[in-house]
Amino acid sequence: MLFQGADSDTIAAIATPYGESGIGIVRISGPDAKGIAGKIFKPRRGPVILKSHHIHYGEIVDPKEGKAIDEVLLAFMAAPKTYTREDVIEIFCHGGFFVLYRVLELVLREGAREALPGEFTKRAFLAGRIDLAQAEAVLDIIQAKTEEGLRLAKEQLQGKLSQEMESLRSALLEVLVSIEAYIDFPEEDVEPPPIESVRERLCFILTKIADLMRSYEEGEIYRDGVKVAIVGKANVGKSSLLNQLLKRRRAIVTAIPGTTTDVIEEVVNLSGVLIRLMDMAGLSEPRNEVEQEGVKLTREKLSESHVILLVLDRSRPLDEEDQRIIREVGGGKAIFVLNKIDLPSRFSEGDLREKAGQKDIYPISALRGDGIERLQKGLVSTIKREGVKREGTEIVPVNLRHKRVLERLKEALEDLLRVLGQGIPWDIAAIEIKRVLSILGEIVGETTPEEVLETIFSQFCIGK
Ligand code: GDP
Repeated sequence: MLFQGADSDTIAAIATPYGESGIGIVRISGPDAKGIAGKIFKPRRGPVILKSHHIHYGEIVDPKEGKAIDEVLLAFMAAPKTYTREDVIEIFCHGGFFVLYRVLELVLREGAREALPGEFTKRAFLAGRIDLAQAEAVLDIIQAKTEEGLRLAKEQLQGKLSQEMESLRSALLEVLVSIEAYIDFPEEDVEPPPIESVRERLCFILTKIADLMRSYEEGEIYRDGVKVAIVGKANVGKSSLLNQLLKRRRAIVTAIPGTTTDVIEEVVNLSGVLIRLMDMAGLSEPRNEVEQEGVKLTREKLSESHVILLVLDRSRPLDEEDQRIIREVGGGKAIFVLNKIDLPSRFSEGDLREKAGQKDIYPISALRGDGIERLQKGLVSTIKREGVKREGTEIVPVNLRHKRVLERLKEALEDLLRVLGQGIPWDIAAIEIKRVLSILGEIVGETTPEEVLETIFSQFCIGK
């Protein structure tokens, strides 16, 4: 693996979020980090002597103008015991954007280059300090939305998935070695590997891969929470219901604008349950391409959700649009919510049953809060009944990229098993196993194509 040593350049970035805060950090990594710090840092007393893994107190001073910019703490960490395995400087400034920007500007003027998103972590990966799955875990930790998601990400950072990959790799290598011994030394009377045992071992690897792929589905719930969609036509009381649910627990609300102007989705984390509020206006007959995109997006979100709360307004007769929504999403994972029971009723549960069949129906008043408790209990038991949250299962942290690689791995192994059954020569089988090994290497980053690496690291924030 490539070791980024003295010949790489020095990068710098503001590592804390933009905005006002108590402190903000400018981070520098590379061979010139210490030199640059020496030029712009003036300790409170005496000459600049930077001791590794020590914090120093002083000022950042523009060497050209001799003007002090900020009073700071500066940490120096000498290679290789650092995040990037290069020399690293971190300058703890006051957390205003302007101050941070001025310090960064100075650092860049003195010879550093502005870091790309995720470039510090990429250097840690290229230096071999962490593998690719671990680098991705850093991103997962930053983006963790639930307690369990954070726990999984930490496990991945410690190399749990990487260990799984290593054990698959050694199993495959064993098969390869037995085949190659036969190909390489035919004159030494090495017996051909018994085809049945090769097949058995490959099948065992396939079951391991299937387990890991299942981990993705299960882990997704822990990573992102259980996805509950609240759907219904406009004005039935979706937002009011969401507010009622929110009143009961601490929640973080974020508005996520969709790709089109008319699909706005609200995502809320209610004690680890991720709730998406979806207006089914986004499901009307599309009139143009933009709307078509919107409908596609809403359908995708709905198919991803584990439970759907289908809200109907009982104070108005069921109309064509309600019925269309019932037909479209009223199946398997839907719970029916009859809202506005504080108003005179315009249709009965019986009427609804005729259309909805044997579904759970929850009458509520989102305005007054009636029935919300019962609905919440119903929601939790549906989640449990659907087996969405499997307590205590052993989950290996697998993300979508890993899952896609695992799918290709599975296909390649199945192909191999098929051609082995047709009696292909051993030397070709060996080539195929090497191909499988190379796919396997993409998970930890040994054989990952450069453009995939670029995509992964570009998802990081600058300064990480
Ligand atoms: P959304 O468009 O589906 O999100 O619906 P809103 O939550 O914005 O509610 C639409 C209107 O119905 C608002 O004026 C609410 O105050 C009202 N509303 C919501 N729930 C109830 C309810 O249970 N009873 C009554 N009487 N009005 C309600």
